[in-house]
Amino acid sequence: MPQTTRILLPESAIPTHWYNVVADMPNPPEPVLGADGKALSPDALSAIFPDALIEQEVSRERWIPIPQEVRELYQLWRPTALVRAHRLEAALGTPARIYYKYEGASPAGSHKLNSALPQAYYNKREGITRLTTETGAGQWGSSLSFAGGVFGIDVRVYMVRVSYQQKPFRRSMMQTWGAEVLASPSELTASGRAALAAHPDSPGSLGLAIAEAVEEAAGRADTNYALGSVLNHVLLHQTVIGLEAKQQFEIAGDWPDMIFAPCGGGSNFGGIAFPFLADNAAGKKPVRLVAVEPTSCPSLTRGHYAYDFGDAVGLTPLMKQYTLGHDFMPPGIHAGGLRHHGASSLVSQLYHEGLVEAVSVPQLATFEAGITFARSEGIIPAPESCHAIRACIDEALRCKQSGEAKTLFFNLSGHGHFDMASYDRYFAGELEDFDYPAEAIRDALARLPRVAEGV
Ligand SMILES: *Cc1c(COP(=O)(O)O)cnc(C)c1O
Repeated sequence: MPQTTRILLPESAIPTHWYNVVADMPNPPEPVLGADGKALSPDALSAIFPDALIEQEVSRERWIPIPQEVRELYQLWRPTALVRAHRLEAALGTPARIYYKYEGASPAGSHKLNSALPQAYYNKREGITRLTTETGAGQWGSSLSFAGGVFGIDVRVYMVRVSYQQKPFRRSMMQTWGAEVLASPSELTASGRAALAAHPDSPGSLGLAIAEAVEEAAGRADTNYALGSVLNHVLLHQTVIGLEAKQQFEIAGDWPDMIFAPCGGGSNFGGIAFPFLADNAAGKKPVRLVAVEPTSCPSLTRGHYAYDFGDAVGLTPLMKQYTLGHDFMPPGIHAGGLRHHGASSLVSQLYHEGLVEAVSVPQLATFEAGITFARSEGIIPAPESCHAIRACIDEALRCKQSGEAKTLFFNLSGHGHFDMASYDRYFAGELEDFDYPAEAIRDALARLPRVAEGV
C-alpha cells in the first residue's frame, strides 16, 4: 500500500466549537489592569471591541460555539491538511516522524484568517461599519482586509513602515480586498505625529502601529479595533488548528510527542497547542509544547514576567506578560510577524507555570531550515514559520543521534510567496544574526509601568 502523506478531513469535520484553555488552566488568568493599577472592568473595552468578543476575552467556558456563518466561511480552505513530511524525514535521515499542519492554504496565506473572519462577523452583528488595525508582516492586515470585505466593513490598516517598504505586494493584496493601507508612523494620529517628531525616519514598530489603530478606534463611535494576536479571543479562534489536528492524528494512528509553532503574539502557537494541553491537563500521555521565537526578539526566553502595555505608547490596558518592554524597537529582521515586544498573557502564564516550553533560534539558521523544507516538501514557508521548522529539524537531528523515533509536529503557519525579497537577501548574504543585547533589555525593562503588584 502506498504511504499516506496528506491526511484530509471532510468539511463536516470543521470544529463546531472553539476550545477555551482557561477552563483547564491550574490558576485563573492574571487580571487585566487599568492605568490606575486596578483590575479593569470588561466594559472599559467596549469603546473598541464588540460585546461578543469581550465576553470571549473573559470567558471561562471550555467550549464556545462557532457561528454557522463563520463555519461556512472556514470551508473556503478548511479543514487544512495534516501532512506527513516523508521527504523531509528522508533528507534529514532521521528516525523521527515529522508532520505539519498547512495553514498557508488560507486565501490570505496564513492562519490569521481563522480569527479575522469571526472578528469581522461579530463587529458586523453589533453595527460596526469601520475597523482599524495594524499589520507587521502584512499577514494580519491581509486577513482582516478580506474578512472586512466579506462583511461589508471598511478596513484601515496601519502597516509598520519597514514592512510597507519591504513588502509592496502585501499592500497590493490588502487594496485588492478593498482596504486602505497607511505606513505607520503616520501623520493621522497623535501617537504617529509624536513618533515622527522624535524620529523622522522611524521604521515603525508593531507597538506603535497598534497605538495608532487603537487611538483612532477609541475616538470614533462607528469604528472598532481588531487585533491579530495576543488577546485571549484571538488564541481561542485559532484552536480550530489543533482541534482538526487531533482528529487527523487519530486517523493516522499516531500522536505527537512534541509540537512546535513560531511565537510572535502567541496565536498560532496557542491555536495548535492548547487543544493538546487539554489532554495533558486530563492526565493523558503528555505532549511537549514548544513556542519558537527569534533570538532578536526573545520575549519568552529573555523577557521579564511583568505587567506591561500592549502598544508602544501606553494606550492599552496593562496585561501580565513576558515582555521586552513596551518601547522595545526590534531590529528589522525578516520575520515581521515575530517582532512584538511581548507574548500573549495566556501563553506567558502557561510558560511561567512550566506547562509550555520556549526556545529561541537565530535568523540565518531559520532560513537554512526553510530552504531544506522547501527543497524536500515543495512549499516555501513564511520566514515566521521557518522558526518552527528550525526547532523541529533540530529535534529530528537529535533523534538521529539518539536513534529515538519521536513523532514531531509543527505548524506551517503561512507560505512565503510575499516574502521572497527576504529570501533574496538571505541568498545574497545580506542577512545577519542578531542577539538582542542584554543592556538594551535591561534599559527597556527599567521603563516598565509601575503597578500595585510591584514590578
Ligand atoms: C503573524 C504570524 C505569525 C506569528 O504570530 P502569532 O500571533 O504568534 O501566531 C507566525 N506565522 C505567520 C505566517 C504569521 O503571519
